[in-house]
Amino acid sequence: MQSSIFNLRVPFPKRDEVFLMNTLTDAQLVVSSDVATLLERPSLDRQALTDQERDAFDELVENGFLVAGHTSERDALDRYFVSIREDSRQLKVTVLTTLQCNYACGYCIQGDHDEYNRTAQKMSIETAGRLVSWIEDKLDQVDPESLVLTFFGGEPLLNLPVVYFLAERVHEAATSRGVTMDIALITNGHHLTPDVVDRLLPFGLYGGKITLDGDRDTHNRMRPMQGGQGTFDRIIHNVRQVASKVRITIGGNFDESSADSFPALLDFLKEQDFADKLAKVNFKPIIKTEAKASGPKGLIPLTVVGASKPLNGTCGTVAGAGGSPCDSCHFADEKMAFLRSETKKRGFPTPDGVHMGPCEIHRRHAYTIGPEGSLYACPGFTGEPTMAVGHIERSSTPLHERASDQFERLGAWQKCGDCSFIPVCGGGCSVASHSELGDMNVPTCHKPAMEAALLSFAAELVGAH
Ligand code: SF4
Ligand code: SF4
Repeated sequence: MQSSIFNLRVPFPKRDEVFLMNTLTDAQLVVSSDVATLLERPSLDRQALTDQERDAFDELVENGFLVAGHTSERDALDRYFVSIREDSRQLKVTVLTTLQCNYACGYCIQGDHDEYNRTAQKMSIETAGRLVSWIEDKLDQVDPESLVLTFFGGEPLLNLPVVYFLAERVHEAATSRGVTMDIALITNGHHLTPDVVDRLLPFGLYGGKITLDGDRDTHNRMRPMQGGQGTFDRIIHNVRQVASKVRITIGGNFDESSADSFPALLDFLKEQDFADKLAKVNFKPIIKTEAKASGPKGLIPLTVVGASKPLNGTCGTVAGAGGSPCDSCHFADEKMAFLRSETKKRGFPTPDGVHMGPCEIHRRHAYTIGPEGSLYACPGFTGEPTMAVGHIERSSTPLHERASDQFERLGAWQKCGDCSFIPVCGGGCSVASHSELGDMNVPTCHKPAMEAALLSFAAELVGAH
């Protein structure tokens, strides 16, 4: 037997202990240092061990830390990605109700693009009706236990008639088949009023994700209204009113000009009466274009609003994270680790930074539907018609098939060698790879951030802070 490729270890010398994690089995153990040294031997024969070592050996084998060989482990990794791809327990449908928006975030196509915003697509009630039939067919084909319906955009709440129509009809379709349904909203928060929440709660509204890009002044600079007015106070007012009704997650996007204002935002949030109701707080770097990914060292450039727009009509608040081979990556990783630690310090729940993927692009039964009914592999590709993989009612074109084939073969992680993080990373965000590196099959690597997160994850579990 030999040590698994997917072992991660964090030593705690003062305690004479080592935290072990296997990313393929997700086993986590705290063992004495001498047990951990068993993993350093090139190969282990159970019969040659002492009785005490055998007990440890058995536990390490049972949890996947010791394996028969790396070829069989590679096969297990392939099976793991297939099982994620084919998992039919949950059907995920993300609907872009409109690509229009009332905000003009500097890193988004809507910023400064009044003309674009006026003509950007909006789903009609007729298309929404056809979408309900498409979802009914999917429920019958996939036979899932649960359905998650996510509204996204542009700003999804600018098309409330379609949001309400879909929530009601899809809920009826799901519950009549014994399928539980949750609704998630990814919104800029401007129209997330108690009326909207109350209307959606009976149909399974579960959570809302809103975005704050730094403290009040920074956020107002980063995410103004189309007319330039600040938006921070309005969002906070809405969150205060709805936080006791629905789980609110705060997201935020930072660049080199805004990252340092996030601790002040966290301090502000901590003082609010709704602080203990926030379900999650999580910040990430702004996605960049390929052209802008190679800026001066230590700089994360803003996405250009111009001819080459990485996310086209899709709201830029969700997809992606910084870049890989460019000089800015190290800065982003440092800041991500710093902001995660600042968030935790104030007691807010936040992702552990270790379990980061694989995301929904790797799942066959996760669908994104654009306003006119085109199907996409994930929300980050919705602004690019050439990336559509089908349509809810029209038959597939050769272009759809080509795009579909591309996503079917997706495997940036196959270029990650023996990296121990592969099962929990999957090679990073494909949208970031596509937009920043020009190839969705090249990994977008944030290994330093994951390593930093592992140290803090281990210290928390071991109680060694
Ligand atoms: S990033 Fe989202 S909220 Fe901001 S302008 Fe773009 S669509 Fe609107
Ligand atoms: S992208 Fe980086 S951290 Fe992720 S699996 Fe590949 S090498 Fe590892």
